[in-house]
Amino acid sequence: MPEKRIICAALTGNWGSKKDNPALPVTPEEIADAAYEAYCEGAAVVHVHMRDEHELPTMNVDRFRYCIELIRSRCDIIINLTSSGDHTFETIGAYDVRCAPFAELKPEMGSFDCGSMNWMHTTIFENHPMFLEMLGAVMIEAGVKQEIEIFDTGMMGTALHYIKNGVIKEPSHFQFVLGCPGGIDATVENLAFLHRRLPEGATWSATGIGSSHIPILLTTLALGGHLRVGLEDNLFYEKGVLAKSNGQLVGRAREIMRLVGMEPATPDEAREMLGIRSK
Ligand code: ZN
Repeated sequence: MPEKRIICAALTGNWGSKKDNPALPVTPEEIADAAYEAYCEGAAVVHVHMRDEHELPTMNVDRFRYCIELIRSRCDIIINLTSSGDHTFETIGAYDVRCAPFAELKPEMGSFDCGSMNWMHTTIFENHPMFLEMLGAVMIEAGVKQEIEIFDTGMMGTALHYIKNGVIKEPSHFQFVLGCPGGIDATVENLAFLHRRLPEGATWSATGIGSSHIPILLTTLALGGHLRVGLEDNLFYEKGVLAKSNGQLVGRAREIMRLVGMEPATPDEAREMLGIRSK
């Protein structure tokens, strides 16, 4: 039987817009359509950000709820919500807002970003220790599988600290996002370094932003990891060519897997691999 690997589709993110790529899904309906297309192409997980009516990032619970209902009416893909905040970047004092979708909607997965960073040379992606402790407690209480997002090497130490003191529940799952301006560069050496620091028994996945996408994808498969693809990380399919859809990026990852004798995991197989109990 071919080896199974999980494909996570990161559909929208907080940064791109329809001006950058008209295929970027921004309404709840478009995001649900993109999730279903990603599922049909082989994704087992969708990582979901929400946008408001002006395409700006929002943590609005009702918008998340409506989108989740649309996705759920069509497929059983694992839904992984972002915790990264809204467009105001006023994250201090807005901890409740960032935790609310997890407390109220209890998604199967959610991103947990292990530290703050200068983001895209533009702003600060702030994840104060007080916020992370609160988010960790909310996620564990709600039964949300924490996806530990790692943008830089120091975040690994923070993740190990939180695993040790129970803010992150084991078995842990890591998502390495390489090549984000302000974070670690997307090189094979850097991915191998992060991989060596994983705790015993952890599962992991990786994505490279921009031109590094395919080298990081291939290295991840070689090192035994799972894949993340999607328009959040790559608006382009290749140099100078916009991606047509999230499904197109998932389909390419699936075909690369098949070339090396692997198959994409189904949502239920991914639940088993990640230790998620189906709700
Ligand atoms: Zn995201």
